[in-house]
Amino acid sequence: MPELPEVEALAGYLRQRAVGRRVDRLEVAAISALKTYDPPPGAVAGKTVCDARRHGKFLDVLLDDDLHLVVHLARAGWLHYREGFPSAAPLRPGKGPVALRVRLDDGSGFDLTEAGTQKSLAAYLVADPTTVPGVARLGPDALAVDQAGFAERLRSRRGQVKGVLTDQQVLAGVGNAYSDEILHAAKLSPFALTDRLTDEQLATLHAATRRVLGDAVERSLGQRAAELKAEKRSGLRVHARAGLPCPVCGDTVREVSFSDSSLQYCPGCQTGGKPLADRRLSRLVR
Ligand SMILES: [Zn+2]
Repeated sequence: MPELPEVEALAGYLRQRAVGRRVDRLEVAAISALKTYDPPPGAVAGKTVCDARRHGKFLDVLLDDDLHLVVHLARAGWLHYREGFPSAAPLRPGKGPVALRVRLDDGSGFDLTEAGTQKSLAAYLVADPTTVPGVARLGPDALAVDQAGFAERLRSRRGQVKGVLTDQQVLAGVGNAYSDEILHAAKLSPFALTDRLTDEQLATLHAATRRVLGDAVERSLGQRAAELKAEKRSGLRVHARAGLPCPVCGDTVREVSFSDSSLQYCPGCQTGGKPLADRRLSRLVR
């Protein structure tokens, strides 16, 4: 899933490549992906791309006359920039992974795609991005919030720190992969309870959040959209690395599985060398 660093890099790429270009048309292949109907997709024709921004994990393409194409890429969505399209024919609804296509006046443009059968990519054409429900509910940006604000947000929600850190209403931008990395960098168990974290642990967690996300943004800047996924993978220390040695302490990275997700962590760095029980067990002993 694209998280803060990837969405930031995609916005940066669009700023370099698309700002100043006029939109020829917006084609919608996956009808269910476009969540708004007024203004209609035709309203973007002839508008100039003014900017590309990020709100948490939402990408916001700003067109002139205050029109925003806001996109949440969800778990398997991505943006592919095309220097050209093989055909001028409009996309046919329901075919292939492309959900939306934006064609620009120089023949280039971008596709918003979604792999797999579970379709949850969501796009909104709005005059004000804060009218998008997911954007309106976002907490402060994970890379912008200061230490006091961070501690206050984390303590406002009692629960396992992994879940609280990825709750977009608490903090915007962190998902499953970077939360594994942040907790590893902060040497905290993903199951640590937020209301039991000390001031010092919260300060360490805040610093780790800034460092992990900041480094990932740094690495991704200037990368083409197609290279971002490989760049993300290469920077990970525990996420998606179960069974491999921790690059910090050499212990074996372990995994806890849930019904539709999993987390990875290093016992040596994060849980005093003890492997975590699965979720149901840990709930019983909590
Ligand atoms: Zn380790």
